[in-house]
Amino acid sequence: MKFGTKLIHNGNSIDKNTGALSIPIYQVSTFHRFQLDKESEFDYSRSGNPTRKALEETIALLEGGDGGYAFSSGMAATSSVLSIFSKGDHILVCEDVYGGTYRVSTGLFPRLGLDISFFDASNPEQFKNKITSKTKAVFLETPSNPLMKITDLVSIIKIAKEYNIIIIVDNTFMSPYLQRPIEFGADIVIHSATKFIGGHSDVIGGLVVVKGEELSQKVYSVQNGFGAVLGPQDSWLLLRGLKTLKVRMDFQQQSAMKLANWLEGHKKVLKVFYPGLKEHPGRDIHFSQSDGAGAVLSFLTESKDLALNFMKNVKTAAVAVSLGGVETIVSYPAMMSHAAIPESERLKLGITYNLIRVSLGLEDIEDLISDFENAL
Ligand SMILES: *Cc1c(COP(=O)(O)O)cnc(C)c1O
Repeated sequence: MKFGTKLIHNGNSIDKNTGALSIPIYQVSTFHRFQLDKESEFDYSRSGNPTRKALEETIALLEGGDGGYAFSSGMAATSSVLSIFSKGDHILVCEDVYGGTYRVSTGLFPRLGLDISFFDASNPEQFKNKITSKTKAVFLETPSNPLMKITDLVSIIKIAKEYNIIIIVDNTFMSPYLQRPIEFGADIVIHSATKFIGGHSDVIGGLVVVKGEELSQKVYSVQNGFGAVLGPQDSWLLLRGLKTLKVRMDFQQQSAMKLANWLEGHKKVLKVFYPGLKEHPGRDIHFSQSDGAGAVLSFLTESKDLALNFMKNVKTAAVAVSLGGVETIVSYPAMMSHAAIPESERLKLGITYNLIRVSLGLEDIEDLISDFENAL
């Protein structure tokens, strides 16, 4: 079965009790125990809920993993995954990781005893040199945000396997439609389902998919123990969002390609970062591990003033921090998503004051281009 069909027919699309073509929202906290001496599948919604379970099984199937787990946000998913490790464990995190992941990797988890350090994931040699006898996991994100740098998953995973290191990939930007890291040997995949999976800018949620029973049990134990679970209503919204993932992404990435080409030809644009462009340095690696370039790009304007003016004058696109919705969203990383990173660090990472990020929505591209033309 191909991916688009799987989104619609996956064993979790029809309610087995009634035949309803949508899994009902089981808005319930606890379940009647019919037989005292026999455990039933559901007893309490933190431990398991039928709507959440349908979502969890669906995402596990789509990513090719053994266990799926839904959390109250992408960061709850990430933090719960990091919570399977113990004091003294060393974790290597790629340098230009999502801002929230950076925050818990430098604040919360070091405070609790995890030893977290950063490395340039575009350089597999550097990864190898940073591994110690305590290294238990590597945390990757590709393409990176907001500069769309590509990590060679196969090379990093090969090295990690040699050292028995758990491979975690934040797959938010690609979604399982375009990239399935477990197929390349990753152990854990994380999504901010707030983005492409939900797809409508109306829900905050996180998903984790795990390969292997033992590791799945560890993640489940944190999900149930720590308890940052996704509610039934939000689980249902994600199930609904998933059904149109393919058609949305197909359209959105077509628009991204058109916009990238148009921006490249604009005299006030210095550079466009999009893996679909021929000049993108990570293009070949990206397409060896992904089925498309995705719907997020960023670009450099001639000057800071021009970038600020653009942000002020853009009309069709929303100015917001999120991405992956049906509406085109532009953001200004230096003052928005990456404002928390100290300026010197930020500039070193290439997040300069003339950088703008765009997440393509479902508007007609002609309208977006004329909006961008005006704003530039
Ligand atoms: C948004 C995002 C997150 C965090 O997800 P939330 O749902 O906002 O908690 C993590 N990783 C990436 C790549 C993201 O874009």
